[in-house]
Amino acid sequence: MELMYQSTRSKGKEVTASQAILKGLADDGGLFVPVSIPKLDVSLDAISKMSYQETAYEVMKLFFTDFTEEELKNCIERAYDSKFDTKEIAPLVEKSGAYYLELFHGATIAFKDMALSILPHLLTTSAKKNNIKNQIVILTATSGDTGKAALAGFADVEGTSIIVFYPKNGVSKIQERQMVTQKGANTSVVGITGNFDDAQSGVKAMFNNKELAKVMDEHGYQFSSANSINIGRLVPQVVYYVYSYTRLLASGAVKEGEPVNFVVPTGNFGNILAAFYAKNMGIPVGKLICASNENKVLFDFFETGVYDRNRDFILTSSPSMDILISSNLERLIFKIAGEDADATAAMMKALATDGKYTITPEMKEQMKDFIGGWASEEETAKEIKRVYDETGYVMDTHTAVASAVYHAYKEKTSDNTKTVIASTASPYKFGTSVMGAIDDKYKGMDDFALIDELCKTSGVAIPNAVEEIRKAPVLHDTVCETEDMQKTVEKILGL
Ligand SMILES: *Cc1c(COP(=O)(O)O)cnc(C)c1O
Repeated sequence: MELMYQSTRSKGKEVTASQAILKGLADDGGLFVPVSIPKLDVSLDAISKMSYQETAYEVMKLFFTDFTEEELKNCIERAYDSKFDTKEIAPLVEKSGAYYLELFHGATIAFKDMALSILPHLLTTSAKKNNIKNQIVILTATSGDTGKAALAGFADVEGTSIIVFYPKNGVSKIQERQMVTQKGANTSVVGITGNFDDAQSGVKAMFNNKELAKVMDEHGYQFSSANSINIGRLVPQVVYYVYSYTRLLASGAVKEGEPVNFVVPTGNFGNILAAFYAKNMGIPVGKLICASNENKVLFDFFETGVYDRNRDFILTSSPSMDILISSNLERLIFKIAGEDADATAAMMKALATDGKYTITPEMKEQMKDFIGGWASEEETAKEIKRVYDETGYVMDTHTAVASAVYHAYKEKTSDNTKTVIASTASPYKFGTSVMGAIDDKYKGMDDFALIDELCKTSGVAIPNAVEEIRKAPVLHDTVCETEDMQKTVEKILGL
């Protein structure tokens, strides 16, 4: 039977998985959700004997029901291949009383590779299924990580091209080098003189420009987005929760039916929502612990039932979690509102106009699976050092936020449930903060200067992704004024 998708904001017409992937966002501005979350139809014991790719198929076939077996397997094979520097794709490492699920072995050494390496294939397959002949042009504004992960995912994927805008003076040195050295005849990277918000507004304006869409269509192009609210990014993230549970089962660390906790360093709420979906599919889960940095909107929300973005934006050492509007939370709101699209729409409207909304006590009751926690900058740095001193394991700042939250939770509750911590970036990506936490003598040195020190300290080989950018030539040097973003796109596409 076909699994259909509906918007979180109105009970309008339902669409197939491939249509939801192509559209990204519903016409009413809502997010696509499956009308029901499917249950796994093979035993966890059977999955525990499968590879990552086979597990991916078992999960995705239940969500993407309008893809044929061949189409889906083809997408999976192209995504989870030697771009990952480990055969396991997402290894589970036991350290200091927890299991770290390493989601950073892909092309850009951060967890967004888990979804962005398959999205291009899901998207081009969806286009074929829906008889779309135009070339898909991915337009993205990035504050750093997403841009590179999207570039790496779409590079040389037939039927697509990708244009990424980033704030010229607003990303880290490593992030910029990662982007401007990107290979692939279909990739373009453009620095803008404005900040991230300017880049995002410019991209949004192009998406909404009907005149431009018409000219694009005449030239055989159409825009699409690789945004984290696309269902084609959420579903591939469910896979590694199923995979990690079944690895614990395979090793005998848990018995069939024994729950585990998941701790997730959270920004846009996509990663932890995937864990919630895994639970709904039948993975035994105790607590879902949502870890925030000092931008602790979500912690406050789980405490009080009030989501309030009216506060200062704090720049932290875990920049991928510096977010005040967690877009994917809308899918949870919809679920705990009893799938009431009108109620969800009203709350999202309040968020847009007043910057806040309040959920009902009944809704709050439905969130009992979730526990919010947060770690300060100091606690995060201390956690990196604590785990390093105890075990020699070096983790990045985002993972450290989750690890610190878990450590405090365990001390407070004495909950001894086996726990998996989502490890979202390689320490090599945030060398300055990581090495500065381990020893004061490294404070202030830049990420590049610390690469070799990090290798000595962690005993982990320098990832290819880092080795490459040290030597790779700069291939993209276009810089434009914010107001010339559209002109730049027209020039790139030859309109
Ligand atoms: C994007 C990102 C996160 C946050 O994930 P969400 O799905 O947005 O909650 C955490 N850590 C790293 C390294 C990231 O790149």
